[in-house]
Amino acid sequence: MKHRHAFATIAVSIFALALGITGCKKEEPAEAKAPTPEETAKITANLALADLHDGTTDRVVSECLMCGLRMKGSAEHTSKYQGVELHMCSAGCKKHFDADPATAILALDTSSE
Ligand SMILES: [Zn+2]
Repeated sequence: MKHRHAFATIAVSIFALALGITGCKKEEPAEAKAPTPEETAKITANLALADLHDGTTDRVVSECLMCGLRMKGSAEHTSKYQGVELHMCSAGCKKHFDADPATAILALDTSSE
């Protein structure tokens, strides 16, 4: 079981390395746990939906993700994830997002849209 875990860790590391080569990932805090490839795919899909939510696919989410895209975001409270700019409505929302962006994006319910 130890070996299996080590293999999974190596696989995730290689995946992260591949992403590091193809895209700018250095803005992510090192202590945040790396999402699995399945989670990364879901995050990418949710980010695309959030981006589209404001009517334009400009890689800027102009509504607050932490408020389920129901609040207008402000450029003053901007975070970046997977190269997408996310405008939060307040410093508090930005702080919560920055603490664990992957979980925040995964928690976004886009099924009702
Ligand atoms: Zn908010």
